[in-house]
Amino acid sequence: MDLSLSDILNHLGEQRQDHYHSVAPPIFTTVNFTFPSVEDMREKLKAEYAHPFYTRGHNPTVETFNQKMAALEGTEAALSFGSGSAAVAAAVMANVGQGDHIVCVRDPYSWTNKLLNIMLPRFGVTATMVEGTPESYQAAIQPNTKLLFIESPNSFTFELQDIPGIVAVARQHGLLTVCDNSYCTPLNQQPARMGVDIVVHSATKYISGHGDAVAGVLCCSKDMHRKIFYSEFMTLGGVLSPFNAYLLLRGLRTLPLRLERVGKTAMTVASWLATQPQIAKVYYPFLPDHPQYALGQQQIKQPGGMFSIQLNTKDLSQIDAFCNRLRLFLLGASWGGYESLAFPSSTFTQQATRPDGYPLNLIRLYTGLEEPSELIADLAHALAAITE
Ligand SMILES: *Cc1c(COP(=O)(O)O)cnc(C)c1O
Repeated sequence: MDLSLSDILNHLGEQRQDHYHSVAPPIFTTVNFTFPSVEDMREKLKAEYAHPFYTRGHNPTVETFNQKMAALEGTEAALSFGSGSAAVAAAVMANVGQGDHIVCVRDPYSWTNKLLNIMLPRFGVTATMVEGTPESYQAAIQPNTKLLFIESPNSFTFELQDIPGIVAVARQHGLLTVCDNSYCTPLNQQPARMGVDIVVHSATKYISGHGDAVAGVLCCSKDMHRKIFYSEFMTLGGVLSPFNAYLLLRGLRTLPLRLERVGKTAMTVASWLATQPQIAKVYYPFLPDHPQYALGQQQIKQPGGMFSIQLNTKDLSQIDAFCNRLRLFLLGASWGGYESLAFPSSTFTQQATRPDGYPLNLIRLYTGLEEPSELIADLAHALAAITE
């Protein structure tokens, strides 16, 4: 029987009977767990992936978080990491080797892009970046393809991929699928229930939700969990600290409330921006005139809190003036916390050297928990910096 959302968030994996029935989970800031006898130690070491032995492997505070994430995604198991990037790298690297090939949607998260196109080629693994339709994945498959990587919606331009369509292509060719689900969280989209093998998250974003912890997690079958545990997880050792696991557990308690609020705010703010003369384009698949609106309605339960805008000017001094006038939208990377953020592509894009790079007038906005009317007033004031 499936647990209800509040059962998962409030009760699953808490083991309160072992901790004086405390409401908040204890933080096991210990390296070792010790044993009454050598026989017991031998037994526990045999199944280190499932028992507390050494905190790089299994830790009870981290395990409580893992159990909740697996239940939320509808997978048998979950494994947490010190960052989303570590989770992405482990999910991919555990499943490819010398001579293998990956197909991935173009413009994924920047460090996923670097993993696939700069780091893995050093080990003889190559990648083809595709537009993102099932047909484009299908067309890029080679005899040595092992894995299809999905990030729906992808970073910065929020293009959706038809997840069941890509899973069907993968199954036809016996390939593994990995989906970065950070934007939606399991509350708004459940790729594993659509057949994806490994779902990865940057828990730094919505799951932490307070801008104070960097973390990652992957959700998968028990067999895959054991495979990744004994390869990339234990050997590369990019594990989540028990203290950050505690922060993530605290973040999870309010995740449904925060997601609903930021989604509604983003919808209000994005709809308003779409009517402003200084805005050339809004990249937000939940606006009814977006070309992928129908796909979004099929796959995603409610609007997300992040979108991008393209300003109606190519003049960098005007683009910078707009950004500098923002007061509530703090200039910064990341997203998913309580604070609204603006990330101008002009701070990183290499458009001069890459003609297909992001345009300089593209700005990513995340709406936090502030009042929507105040955010709109902030944007209106900043837009006044753009003149004819
Ligand atoms: C932030 C992010 C990551 C990387 O996560 P970190 O926790 O920063 O390592 C991966 N994918 C997406 C979509 C992200 O937004």
